[in-house]
Amino acid sequence: MKVLAIICHPDDMELTCGGTLLKYKKAGHDVTVCNVANGNMGHYSIMPEELRAIRRKEAQKACDVAGFKSVTADIDDLTINSANMEHVRKLVRIIREEKPDLIITHHPNDYCSDHRETERLVFKASFDATVPHFMPEAGEAVDLAPLYYADCDWGVNMIPTEYVDITDEMDTKEKMMACHESQVVWLREHDGYDVIVEQRKQAAARGTQCGVKYAEGFTPCLASGRLRTYRLLP
Ligand SMILES: [Zn+2]
Repeated sequence: MKVLAIICHPDDMELTCGGTLLKYKKAGHDVTVCNVANGNMGHYSIMPEELRAIRRKEAQKACDVAGFKSVTADIDDLTINSANMEHVRKLVRIIREEKPDLIITHHPNDYCSDHRETERLVFKASFDATVPHFMPEAGEAVDLAPLYYADCDWGVNMIPTEYVDITDEMDTKEKMMACHESQVVWLREHDGYDVIVEQRKQAAARGTQCGVKYAEGFTPCLASGRLRTYRLLP
């Protein structure tokens, strides 16, 4: 199976679905992570162009730890817009190239407007990629992929309907998050928490809900054409 996680910033994948992607990889599936935003605004002292390059390297490093392919739509922070057809076209190109059997993205209730726009963009682009007369220059139309929403930051306003046991993947998930050195500092200064510590707490809370040590929670997108008769999550 080909799994495509289309997630907003470099470092969002680790928190929301990193353990689950590791589990897919262990089971022999292909995993690609697409960052929609380049993360160029996430620091107090490093300027946007320099930060953009740093964060690309951090994302690549984290994906290398896991054996995932890393790609980016390279859209500036705070400008993601699902009504912007240039942004839609960027994602259609990536989806047609990757031909995913499953897409994972942010939950519609997540806290950050860029995360919410990413989810809308993914919903639109993953449908548009199936239409043969739309952007024929970007390759053949693909099948409509099932879509799963990953957890919101700290689980706020998100009730999972499916859980993945990530107990065996927790340490690697943490190693991947630690690759985002610029963000460990930014989140401490801007948001007032240690993301490494909080990530483990969120996985522990989701684990308690389903009877394992560490877990990640998901809900499926309930739209026609996206549903399957079998479980898609590992
Ligand atoms: Zn983010």
